[in-house]
Amino acid sequence: MTQERNIILIFYLFYTHFLKKWPDRNNQDQNLTADHEPEPQNNPYRHGCLLCQRGTKRTRTSPQAMSPNRKIIHIDMDAFYASVEQRDTPAYRGKPVIVGGNPHSRGVVAACSYEARSFGVHSAMPCRKAATLCPHAVFVRPRMDRYKEVSNQVMDIFREYTDLVEPLSLDEAFLDVTDNPYHDSATLIARRIRQQIREKLNLTASAGVSCNKFLAKVASEINKPDGIATIPPEQAIAFINTLPVGKFFGVGRVTEQKMVKLGIKTGEDLAKRSRDSLIFHFGKAGSFFYDIARGKDTRRVEPSRQRKSLGSETTLSSDTSDLSEISTILGDLSEKLVRAMDTKHTCGCTLTLKVRYDNFETITRSVTVPRPIQGRDEIDHLLPRLLHATQAGTRKVRLLGLTLSKLTGPKKVPVQLYLPFMDRYR
Ligand SMILES: [Mg+2]
Repeated sequence: MTQERNIILIFYLFYTHFLKKWPDRNNQDQNLTADHEPEPQNNPYRHGCLLCQRGTKRTRTSPQAMSPNRKIIHIDMDAFYASVEQRDTPAYRGKPVIVGGNPHSRGVVAACSYEARSFGVHSAMPCRKAATLCPHAVFVRPRMDRYKEVSNQVMDIFREYTDLVEPLSLDEAFLDVTDNPYHDSATLIARRIRQQIREKLNLTASAGVSCNKFLAKVASEINKPDGIATIPPEQAIAFINTLPVGKFFGVGRVTEQKMVKLGIKTGEDLAKRSRDSLIFHFGKAGSFFYDIARGKDTRRVEPSRQRKSLGSETTLSSDTSDLSEISTILGDLSEKLVRAMDTKHTCGCTLTLKVRYDNFETITRSVTVPRPIQGRDEIDHLLPRLLHATQAGTRKVRLLGLTLSKLTGPKKVPVQLYLPFMDRYR
């Protein structure tokens, strides 16, 4: 009897350890020959459900991650702050409206209506210059609370179509509608959303539709304002080839100038460069540029994207090279930063000082510390070092900013340990 039991046990072990694995091995071999890459186990994309990608790590090499079947929409409200002002105050309609500081102040334009843009006014332009270009413009002080309120209404409309909404700012967001409950095309959904925004909120928005974030964002610019554009996956490369590098995601003014110097003016020029060469010139971003020049952007739409930095900046009432005045202003900025850290219950490891000189040249200086910065004392300790690395004091300064990044989550409240002798001193 014992012998029989042993034979059954040996057969069972042989079956479970060898025979059961054969089909899997065969399947893996087939995948290797078909895709030159084994299909990952528990692949969340096997059944095409993009909702399942939450909490899983995607890799750039995964063929599913580069699926052209994703449906991504980028929606951007048209001249948002200025449009809200024109909507709320009928007297402003049809007039050039500039949201920002006083026309005689040294502040900058936060937003402007399309009527003001036709005079050459744009955001981030000094208010004084805007007033010279468009003397009859209506200058309005920003009402951030009102813009936040309207922004929430806009985001609520987006969430009627998908939970995968990633706000980029108060007036723009990415939406992943691959698995929308209506099973409609992304273009149709984008049209409906724009129509709803118009009917419910009396505002206009532009939309871009494509198979990834980069293409959707570029597409939303094509027919702006109050327009929509779709870039189908099969037309992506032809579109990217003619796109000026300045329009690429992540390419700012400085990077654009550097690319043009290297002879990279369009997407086609960018695609000719090797990954190594782009990494050599642009660091980690070079690898990203290499991929997007080929229409590949595997970034997910992150509904709960975490805040990456905290900070604020201020334009000085007059340019100064007086270090004591600069230190006072930095003290105010530090205080503001600490208050923001308290409100958001966060702390961070990198402190960055931004300085704009009177000729508008802007520089940043950063320091990263191993233990998170939690309060004013630590900021005050690091600031002189950062300030010393700038030319403030010898050159006149126009703007100062202070940012905390590499945020590390909840601020730790120091707890006093109980020591036996403490009672004696109470
Ligand atoms: Mg906008």
